[in-house]
Amino acid sequence: MPEGHTLHRLARLHQRRFAGAPVAVSSPQGRFASAAAVVDGQVLTGASVWGKHLFHHYADGPIVHVHLGLYGTFTEWPVTDGAALPEAVGQVRMRMVGAEYGTDLRGPTVCEVVDEARMSDVVAKLGPDPLRSDADPSWAWARIAKSRRPIGALLMDQTVIAGVGNVYRSELLFRHGIDPFRPGRDVSESEFDAAWTDLVALMKVGLRRGKIIAVRPEHDHGAPSYAPGRPRTYVYRRAGEPCRVNGGPIRTTVLEGRNVFWCPTCQT
Ligand SMILES: [Zn+2]
Repeated sequence: MPEGHTLHRLARLHQRRFAGAPVAVSSPQGRFASAAAVVDGQVLTGASVWGKHLFHHYADGPIVHVHLGLYGTFTEWPVTDGAALPEAVGQVRMRMVGAEYGTDLRGPTVCEVVDEARMSDVVAKLGPDPLRSDADPSWAWARIAKSRRPIGALLMDQTVIAGVGNVYRSELLFRHGIDPFRPGRDVSESEFDAAWTDLVALMKVGLRRGKIIAVRPEHDHGAPSYAPGRPRTYVYRRAGEPCRVNGGPIRTTVLEGRNVFWCPTCQT
């Protein structure tokens, strides 16, 4: 599942490609057709993100709300003057076409037209997004400090912090020596503050570079990543491999439905 930095990159891209001009919006697959008609031909004023939720804002007020879920993707293509648009291949839920670019959305969990009030309802359920300038970490800390749930589960809970997925969750806890099974209320405020500051910095790198970079240079000796083209990680998807710091085996188990990875020596 894409993590928050990927959504923020998409919002920036869509803003750059489409904002300030009318866009043609359609649903080649049909499932979004009547909603697409509401915004079709309107000026896109901007795109915004909270956590893993993407919003396209239109001049007359409507907002397209997208959540990619596990399988959703946007595919971009150039618009050539005088040439026909590319045929929609597969299940294209939403097609958005501007003067120079078009993009096709396939496989999202959510793609709907909402108003400001409904958007506020969606956002009100979400914790602070580390990549938003208005993020208030004290809100997340208040939830974590009184919770018996494992910190590894709390970090993935979008109502506590919005935008963190499994890679940032696993890597952040390693970087701060925190066992993912430690109850939230046993995490100290200084540990939380340091982890939040680090999370913001890591996600900003992800936003800028388009990939997750979590291994510090002193621990990165070019060791292979868990799969071709994937980031090098301390623990994520490295079960049974040696810890990059002390050489002991990385462990994995299921925590609230998702695999968590950690080093039992480095993380307490
Ligand atoms: Zn270790």
